[in-house]
This record gives sequence, structure tokens and C-alpha cells, in this order.
Amino acid sequence: MSFKVNIDIFQQNNAEVLHIDYADFFQSSGRKTVRDHTTNSNLQTARPHGESVLRSFVHTAPEAVVITSPHGTVKSLNARAEALYGYSQSEIVGESAALLFEAGVQLPGTFARRFAAEQSCWRSLSENDTVRGRKKNGELFHVEVMLGDCVLDGAPVTIFYIRDASARVLQDQRLAELEREIAHLARHSVLGELATTITHELSQPLTAIINYTVAASRSAAAEPTPETLENNLALIAKAGEQAKRAWLILHRMRQLLQHRGAERVRDDLRLAIDDAVQLATIGAAERGIAVSIDLPPVPVMVLIDRVQVQVLVTNFIRNAIDELTGIEGEKAIWVRLAVGADGFAEISVEDTGHGISPEVFETLFDPFHTTKAEGLGVGLSLSRRIAQAHGGRLAARNRTPNGAIFSFKIPVV
Ligand code: ADP
Repeated sequence: MSFKVNIDIFQQNNAEVLHIDYADFFQSSGRKTVRDHTTNSNLQTARPHGESVLRSFVHTAPEAVVITSPHGTVKSLNARAEALYGYSQSEIVGESAALLFEAGVQLPGTFARRFAAEQSCWRSLSENDTVRGRKKNGELFHVEVMLGDCVLDGAPVTIFYIRDASARVLQDQRLAELEREIAHLARHSVLGELATTITHELSQPLTAIINYTVAASRSAAAEPTPETLENNLALIAKAGEQAKRAWLILHRMRQLLQHRGAERVRDDLRLAIDDAVQLATIGAAERGIAVSIDLPPVPVMVLIDRVQVQVLVTNFIRNAIDELTGIEGEKAIWVRLAVGADGFAEISVEDTGHGISPEVFETLFDPFHTTKAEGLGVGLSLSRRIAQAHGGRLAARNRTPNGAIFSFKIPVV
């Protein structure tokens, strides 16, 4: 929906025109302020003709419109507003516009001060995307509200343009939920792929623990000497180390599987990467793939959700392993972290595979595009969402002479 209304009530001598573009008001971004095209607005010289245009504009507006005094007392409302809120004119006129919003919503201050202070008279009610409106029956619902100041019947008024945003907010919530489900699914699929290798990886420390404890108990059964005692302690310490190794594998898996809301905190990027590499490269050595990891000696502090960044790095590495599995020649992966002069940290995962084919490049980050028989095609699209949520960027390019480089840049704090 988009239409333009011209109102010529704010001008002094020559008829300059105030353009109100409805489409601009409620675009999903940049909703804060819509500039009018009026220069040198003078409130005292409103002309009757302009006021009648304004009245018909309010009457025919496709959104709910409520006109209040500068202090927020309702003077009138159009039919859309009556239908939206369930109030009739007689019930709400003379009452405070605060009745139309949930408690705590700040209504604008005095008209004249605001008008003088701002170049444009259009603004949104809240810094946030939406506020909650309250219907006559007490029901709360999301609304987008734009405010304008002008003169009606010689007196300053504030106009509230109110759009019911409940359907959009509901849709956003469903999308976010869906996204969380997909993210969850993708993590399960990474771990599903890893299940066999993880089982193998866990069986090693567990077998070692059995061996060490059996040896320790045999040695304990023999005649105690200072040597056997020392030997026993060494065996128990080794069993403990192996138990820790098994625990770490399970701990990393559990962290990755956790289904929880995103939470960004100050964190050392090196630790997040190191954990992800340990988990994602399980089984790489058995496939003849050499993995090198190059991290700076000093902490790289960033604002991240550690699990999300680990999912991203794990996706890069698992893709590189998939790519290298079954190829001839050098099989190597380099995971690097470096901080650039631009104040960004860059994580890159480089492989010696075939590289990204031109037709794949076009849809590389789109969901559900995969060249793998068992692929879901959500890894890279999910990674891009994660990068965006961190104020960072993903990039992919082919390397010379062969292979691909995937990177993620994030601002250092
Ligand atoms: P999936 O791994 O399930 O296919 P992704 O979104 O992670 O989903 O990857 C999409 C596609 O990008 C892959 O199917 C593959 O064609 C391509 N791709 C990803 N990583 C690499 C890589 N390191 N080298 C070559 N192609 C890659």
C-alpha cells in the first residue's frame, strides 16, 4: 500500500507543500522519521482550506488516526481507529490518549517545544519497533505509531497514525522460532554425521581407563612397596586424564546441542575456535586429512554467542572435510585467526579441495542448496545469519591453485 497526500497548511506566504508518504511511514526499516518537504513551517498561519484537506485526509486514511491536544487529550479519531480500538468518538474524546496504549508507554511532550526542536514534525512513538496498544476490552496488541504535529482550528494538535502490527509481529515470532528449529536441526545433523566418529573417539579413553584401573588394582593386590605405590598413583592419574578427555568430548557435544536463546558476551575468540576445531575435526586424521590451527598468542576479545560461533566454524570445517574426503593429492585444512588493521578479527578455514564451482557460487549462502547426496544445504545460510547477528560478514573464495577459503569477520571489542 502506498499513496501520497499533499497538505498545504504549514506554509507562510507561498504555498509550499508538505508531502506525507504513507509508504515511508511504515516501511520495515528506517521507520523513525519521515522528513516533510516543508521549509520554514509556521504554525500560526494555518489556512482554513488546508484544514479541510487535513480533515478529509484523516477521514479517508487507510490507518487508524487519532488527533489529540499537545498534552495528549483525545480530540477526535477516524472510523479505522474506532474499529481498531472498539471505542466510539463519544467514549474516548476528552480522555487521555494514554488509554490507547499499555501502561508505561511515554506519550509525547509539549507540541511547541518539540516542533521547534525538530526539522521534521514526523517521528515514531517509540525507539523500538513497536509498542503495545490497548483496546477498549483491555486486549493488548502490537502497534506501529507515527506522530505528527500540526494546526487544526487554529490550535496545535498532535496526530497519531496507528497501524495494527500484531499479524507482522506474530509472523516475525514464528519465523524466529522456525529459524531456531532449523539451527537446532542443523546442529543435530552435524552431530549425527559425527556420531560414528565420536563413538570411536569416546571408546579410546574409556578403554584406556579400563586398562589403567585394572593394572592399578592388580598392582595394589601385590605386596605394597614404595615403588608399587608410586606406580599405582601414576596409573590412577592417567586414568583420570583419560576420563577428563572423554568428559570434554561429551561436554562439547552437549554445548552444541543446547537449545537456548542467543546470548552474546565478551569472550576470547581463540577459545571458541579451539573447542569447535577439536570437535569438528574428529575423524579427520583417519581420512588422511592434516588439520593445522593457527591462533594468535594473545586473547582476541569479541562480543559473541560462543555456541553460535562454534556452529559456524564447525560448518566450515565439516564442509572442508566433506570436500577433501575421497579426493586424490594433498588433503589439508588450515584454520586461522588474525586481527586486521581495520579492527576486525577474521577466522578463515582453507582447504585443498576442488574449490567452489561457479554454479554453486550463485546460491552458496541460500538455504537448501546442496551438492551432497545427504546434504541439508542449511549450513552456510545458517552461518550467514549467525555472522549477521554478530555484526560480522561471511565471505567465500577459491584459492590458488585449488581449494576454497571460507572466512568470517567480526569486530574486536
Ligand atoms: P551442505 O553441507 O548440507 O551441502 P552447506 O550450506 O553447508 O550445506 O553448503 C552448501 C554447498 O556449498 C555444499 O553442498 C557445497 O556444494 C558448497 N561448499 C561448501 N563448502 C565447500 C568447500 N569447502 N569447498 C567446495 N564447496 C563447498
